[in-house]
Amino acid sequence: MRTPFVVGNWKLHKTVAEATALVTELKNQLGAVKGVDVGVAPVFTSLWPVARRLEGSSIALAAQNCFYEEKGAWTGEVAPSLLADAGCTWVIIGHSERRQHFGETDDTVARRVKAALAAGLGVIACVGETDAQRDAGATFAVVDQHLAGALAHVDAAASARVVIAYEPVWAIGTGRTATPAQAQEVHAHIRTRLRERLGAAAGDAMRIQYGGSVKPGNAEALMSQEDIDGALVGGASLEAADFVAIVKAARPKT
Ligand code: PEP
Repeated sequence: MRTPFVVGNWKLHKTVAEATALVTELKNQLGAVKGVDVGVAPVFTSLWPVARRLEGSSIALAAQNCFYEEKGAWTGEVAPSLLADAGCTWVIIGHSERRQHFGETDDTVARRVKAALAAGLGVIACVGETDAQRDAGATFAVVDQHLAGALAHVDAAASARVVIAYEPVWAIGTGRTATPAQAQEVHAHIRTRLRERLGAAAGDAMRIQYGGSVKPGNAEALMSQEDIDGALVGGASLEAADFVAIVKAARPKT
């Protein structure tokens, strides 16, 4: 049985006051929801106040990135243990916006995943192809390469704390969503790779989220696919009503 996991990636949005107000609404509206794990990923400056507001709630707190060193002369970076100290239990690693704008590579993703797991955090590792890569027929090759980085230091035991987010770059923030069939095709491919690499039991137990313009109107069709175990939601996670509707569209997978 895989419990779906729906996470809101707030990106570079919301002041501390706005973030705590949104999470208060989510806490109120999602308190009774069962059978789905929920998380939010605010900007770094809101992590601690949101963590305090989430006390007593099952909504998990995630960071949007972390560094791979624990301490030292690394101006501007944040260590995984400091994220845990601020109340995070998850961290998103290798988001395409990090790869595209901040020079992240499969190697730095691998190091970040290793450091995050060592600090006790769960990891949401993002993989996915660009438009041009899809048009060139390279979707599976790109996903395989991203997976190799994300899983470089992950064994079957650690895999219980790792979630893969398939996020086709062409669908992120564009309003263009992969069709449920397109998404399922790649998720099934990822599932095969997870089973090959980590063994059938661990591969079957791992959750694979879909991300890319998930909205209340398409969430159920996407998340009802066999290998789609929840969603990583950007734009639609900024409004409580939309995010709550997406969370309520998720069903456990047997
Ligand atoms: C994301 O940022 O991970 C994402 C999927 O964004 P959006 O839902 O806005 O496409």
